[in-house]
Formats: sequence, structure tokens, C-alpha cells
Amino acid sequence: MVVKVNADTCIACGVCSQICPEVFEVGDDGKAVVVKPEGADCAQEAADSCPTGSITIEE
Ligand code: SF4
Repeated sequence: MVVKVNADTCIACGVCSQICPEVFEVGDDGKAVVVKPEGADCAQEAADSCPTGSITIEE
């Protein structure tokens, strides 16, 4: 599993880091940063909840 965030479309809402802090953190600019690219169970839920579809998960 490889988790990625598209910084071009991320609107820095913080939803992913609230749902899955193990994988996503808020960066200096407020946008999401992937801190655990190998993912966790909550990563898919975060991806599904991202309002801009900026999170991709490759199996
Ligand atoms: Fe960015 Fe999506 Fe995370 Fe919101 S949920 S901070 S738009 S990646």
C-alpha cells in the first residue's frame, strides 16, 4: 500500500489527519503530509472522506 496526497488539490481542511493521524499530519502550510506511506486501516476511510479526492491509495 502506498498512500499519497496531491498537494495541488488539497485544501488543507484537516479531515484526513483527524480521521487517521497515524498516516496524515498537517504540514507547515496546513496541507496534509503523509507520514506513513505504507498506510494503516484508517487510510482508506480518510481517502473516502477527503472532500477534494486528493488522497490516493495504491495497493
Ligand atoms: Fe487535504 Fe483531503 Fe486531507 Fe483535507 S482531507 S487536508 S483536502 S488531503
